[in-house]
Amino acid sequence: MSDNNIQQKIQSLKDQLNLYSYQYYTLDDPQVPDATYDRLYRELQSLEEKYPQFISSDSPTQRVGDKPLDGFTQVKHEVPMLSLDNVFSAEELREFNQRIQHRLNTSDEIEFAAEPKLDGLAISLIYKKGLLVQAGTRGDGTTGEDVTQNVRTIKSIPLKLMGNDYPALLEVRGEIFMPKAAFEALNKKAEAAGEKTFANPRNAAAGSLRQLDPKITASRHLAMYCYAVGKNDGMKNLATHMQMLDQLQHWGLPLCKEREVVQGVEGCLAYYKKMADMRDSLPYEIDGIVYKVNRLDLQQQLGFVAKAPRWAIAHKFPAQEEITRVKKIEFQVGRTGAITPVARLEPVFVGGVTVSNATLHNMDEITRLDIREGDQVVILRAGDVIPKVVRVVPGSRQHNNPPVQLPKHCPVCGSDIIQLEGEAIARCSGGLYCPAQRKEAIKHFASRKAMDIDGLGDKLVEQLVDEKLIEHIPDLYHLTLKQLVQLERMGEKSAQNLLDALEASKETRLPRFIYALGIREVGEATAQALALYFANLDDLMKADEETLQQVPDVGPIVAGHIVSFFRQPHNREIIQQLRDAGIHWPAIEKPAKTEQKLAGKTFVLTGTLSNMTRDEAKQALMAKGAKVTGSVSKKTDYVVAGESPGSKVAKAEKLGVEILDEGALMDLLGA
Ligand code: NAD
Repeated sequence: MSDNNIQQKIQSLKDQLNLYSYQYYTLDDPQVPDATYDRLYRELQSLEEKYPQFISSDSPTQRVGDKPLDGFTQVKHEVPMLSLDNVFSAEELREFNQRIQHRLNTSDEIEFAAEPKLDGLAISLIYKKGLLVQAGTRGDGTTGEDVTQNVRTIKSIPLKLMGNDYPALLEVRGEIFMPKAAFEALNKKAEAAGEKTFANPRNAAAGSLRQLDPKITASRHLAMYCYAVGKNDGMKNLATHMQMLDQLQHWGLPLCKEREVVQGVEGCLAYYKKMADMRDSLPYEIDGIVYKVNRLDLQQQLGFVAKAPRWAIAHKFPAQEEITRVKKIEFQVGRTGAITPVARLEPVFVGGVTVSNATLHNMDEITRLDIREGDQVVILRAGDVIPKVVRVVPGSRQHNNPPVQLPKHCPVCGSDIIQLEGEAIARCSGGLYCPAQRKEAIKHFASRKAMDIDGLGDKLVEQLVDEKLIEHIPDLYHLTLKQLVQLERMGEKSAQNLLDALEASKETRLPRFIYALGIREVGEATAQALALYFANLDDLMKADEETLQQVPDVGPIVAGHIVSFFRQPHNREIIQQLRDAGIHWPAIEKPAKTEQKLAGKTFVLTGTLSNMTRDEAKQALMAKGAKVTGSVSKKTDYVVAGESPGSKVAKAEKLGVEILDEGALMDLLGA
């Protein structure tokens, strides 16, 4: 590369990094993951190492943070607030240790103070005569923002130091952070209110502290841990960094209790491993470990480079956020028919594993993210949590692919996909037939409260399906002894017992059979009510949503599930095959017509009744042939008004519909 090209490359890296830094530090609104920033930063760093003649003072490698926000009074840091150099591997850590030993001209093992690297923002607190008089952000290292009023709202920060042996002037430095629980609660609240959420706890902490109104900060549950002393006047001499931290704790300042003294690189690595294992269970976010040469005299000897001390290093955990591209968005069918959109990704190494798929949960999430095929996205994989698409990288949409649509038919079995109003999840309605739902459907069918097939447990169902002995539920009734004894761990006796149980299950009752079909939201009680109401399966299969809602406890959602279930030809075929196999039930008698003296009358119930619940009244009315609906119209014959009735009474009056009190209702029911 010519000098010109190198200079150009350096300039473009600087421009890009400076823009990212501004978004990150000044606006608290990063647009790319840290890993992306770090990669570009390292690229710049290595170019500058090779060509030091092109290093300039505006390079992000030469400066800390970014400009303070206008709107805050500025504070000057007499002792500059620096950053830390990073290592990403044990190898790099060994090199760091060697550099120190070399500079100190020793081969002795170095003692380090090891601390979690808190993921928040640096703060300087100034105590005069033990009283907190000023709090400033790091800003660009020499000039920060005066956030004293905001910091005073953080409960763990003492406004007055404890004891009486503190120096006349003490500058304490540390990290302000947002505990995980507070971060989650804050984002949940923002999401519910349709507001913008914070990308991570660090940005949430920075955004919450850098508020012009301290009341907002006060509501955000920030915390702080101290990790250093800046300038001071009259502090007694201490030998080590750890002693200094202990001293701060004595004065009532908050300190991280996970800090430890360790010996040499091996001690550092053991601590790193221990903290990495604990990371998920810690109440605060950390993004690595900081090792500091423990002896303060050695720290002094080692000194500083441009923006970081030579005696400390941050050992970063693998990145939890990465950028990649969405190749395709596909729909999967779960065991219970839930349709889940999944992003197929260009494989990316994040959170310690290679990720090539991420769930998008449901259509609402797709709308929220406005994600499309071809987009660049930020993937988060924290701990063992499944990878998640956090956001689409702004401006990354190259091909203007169309918005993602929910498919109309199940990608596995072709049945209709149904999404009922008010439900976030869309579902395949081919419950009995769909191969994706096969095992669950059969397990449910065989279960005790359904067809009660003794000996057909979950494991055996899995085995039968995996061995391809059954495909759909009716195949159960065509199993032979010869087939069954071939199965692992299946003796002749148990095989015969199973066949007997299957035979016995053919004689059943209608409510059990309805329940066994596994229609969504149709539990035992609803199955019972449906059987009683319709008395035979054919009428139930033909019923429309309005009729279904006449059944006690059946609302619009359940009615919707029932109708779409029976609408699927495949489901109907399976039911027919089951009947052909010999499944039968005794007839249910409908209440005699003579008792149906309210036949053809439509009722609406409102208010609280004293002798029965509204649902009991509904059932009693329906037993006499009446229809009970939810809203008053011209077709309504009677409105029954209990205690504190709703607007339905007014509507009835307006339409001239007869209004009954509870007494009149009891008379009608003949009670
Ligand atoms: P840093 O966060 O990597 O490390 C230095 C800071 O660590 C200190 O200032 C201090 O605040 C903090 N710290 C936490 N625990 C500490 C402890 N026990 N002892 C001492 N210090 C401790 O450095 P930085 O310069 O603040 O920021 C660089 C980071 O910011 C990188 O990870 C980079 O990826 C990220 N960044 C991201 C973007 C983006 O667009 N995504 C832009 C700029 C910077």
